[in-house]
Amino acid sequence: MDPKYQQLLTTLRTAFPQPVSDPVHDSYVVFSILRALDQVDAMKSQAPILGQPQSPDYAAAMASRLDMNSRPLEDVVRELVRYLEGMFIWGHPRSQLNVTPVPSVASVIGVLLPALFNPNMCSDESALKFSEAEARVVAMAADLVGYDPAESGGVFTFGGTGTLLYGVKIGLEKACPGALQSGLCGDAVVLASTSGHYANYTVAAWLGLGQDRVISVPADDANAIDLAALESKAREALAGGRKIAAIVATMGSTDAFGIDDLSAICEMRDRLVDEFKLPYRIHVHADAVIGWAWSVFNDYDYAANELEFRGRTVRALAAAQHLIRHLGQADSIGIDFHKTGYVPYVSSLVLFRRREDLDLITRRRDTMPYLFQSGEHHPGMFTLETSRSATGPMSALASLLLLGREGLRVLLGHAVEMSEVLREMIEAQPRMSVMNRDNVGPVTLFRVYPKDVDTFKVKQREQHDKAYRERLLAHNELNRQIYERVHAEALAGSGVAISLTDCYRRTDYGEPINALKSYVLSPFADEGRMRSVLTHVLAAAGSGD
Ligand SMILES: *Cc1c(COP(=O)(O)O)cnc(C)c1O
Repeated sequence: MDPKYQQLLTTLRTAFPQPVSDPVHDSYVVFSILRALDQVDAMKSQAPILGQPQSPDYAAAMASRLDMNSRPLEDVVRELVRYLEGMFIWGHPRSQLNVTPVPSVASVIGVLLPALFNPNMCSDESALKFSEAEARVVAMAADLVGYDPAESGGVFTFGGTGTLLYGVKIGLEKACPGALQSGLCGDAVVLASTSGHYANYTVAAWLGLGQDRVISVPADDANAIDLAALESKAREALAGGRKIAAIVATMGSTDAFGIDDLSAICEMRDRLVDEFKLPYRIHVHADAVIGWAWSVFNDYDYAANELEFRGRTVRALAAAQHLIRHLGQADSIGIDFHKTGYVPYVSSLVLFRRREDLDLITRRRDTMPYLFQSGEHHPGMFTLETSRSATGPMSALASLLLLGREGLRVLLGHAVEMSEVLREMIEAQPRMSVMNRDNVGPVTLFRVYPKDVDTFKVKQREQHDKAYRERLLAHNELNRQIYERVHAEALAGSGVAISLTDCYRRTDYGEPINALKSYVLSPFADEGRMRSVLTHVLAAAGSGD
């Protein structure tokens, strides 16, 4: 008889995909996936979540220990599926929570294939044709946003935060040559707007600049960077002998879809570089992790409007694209396919207008003895990560191939159309106000006010009048309570799950202004559901005073 371990090994072998063709075992693998999906399906209802609302039980989690014995796959599947209980269904027409898409079937297969065969995208030595897939998405995305694919370059990384890290790191290397080798020299800053993402601070902290070196520039009423303020802060920094590692243009802000005037920022940068006779060109990074996708409208004929969007929608799409079309002027661009590309987390791409910029962060070959013995394409020579998954590029490629420009136009156009429908309904309500009125994406920020409030004047008073502070805080509280009621109803299966942002912007006197938030990305959203947002919010507001 075989030794004991051999007997156990024989059983364990069935738990792996078979290395040589074995159709019977293949059906076992597929059937196991099917069983998991079947169990998940049983959790679906009219509510935008799976099963019942659940909070994580961390006490139970902490009591868990590794068992001595192996378990059958069927048991493990059942156990794993439990973790989906209470999970949001982002694609549900009753789900308008955040900038989280439902991944397309193609993009899920894009995750599955590399998961089965496990390429390491550190080098084409270990990833082979998967590296070609990454190069292909880089070229497609570069062309889409207005870079020349022959001159630009890019790499997938660990999230929008990662794309920003690459952009600022390379900008820093330009401002402080040799920082990669010898560490920081002098005092370098990052400029970004108050509507920008907090990832600007994360990146400054992790690069050793420190969060205090992020110079925060005010945003205007459209949540775009105030250009005059940007220029004066940049001048102040340069005049004080500081270096500028990067100016970050936010191209689609997280809460309000504010879009900075990138073209004006680049023009100003050129002037400052000349005037201060800088020995480096200040790096402009476009944080377009959300806005990139609007590039698909770059060659849309709005007059012909062949997709037959409503007038309001066409105006909104054109207004966004008018600013997004300048992306090609940025030195680097962050793109999240897992936000507006209908792809699962994590799928983020950072692009550089000039591929040579990546040489600035390339390590010496002799520091990596066990790698790059063969093959010709080694992103691992400059990437922050050593092990790199192919799920990001493969799922992005899948979605781009599946959707094409037209598919993305349809999905984004529909999201914007639904958001415009909601805006129109809100504008007709005396007690409600759209907060990001000048923004044109799929997100609507709005507030409900007590009956006695004049919603024509209240926004200005809240923003500027310090004497109004108590009322502002009371309005924040009212909207928080409305959110809690509407959210609880939605999870129970009636109405729509929207979210709350605690601070969509700050008042002049420093208080946060909160807002109810509807973020539409689902292909399954429809006008009836948009109306139901309004009905439920108004009911939750009660006759209120
Ligand atoms: C989401 C977001 C980020 C961070 O991206 P992750 O993919 O979540 O790391 C950065 N900037 C903006 C504008 C974002 O919306």
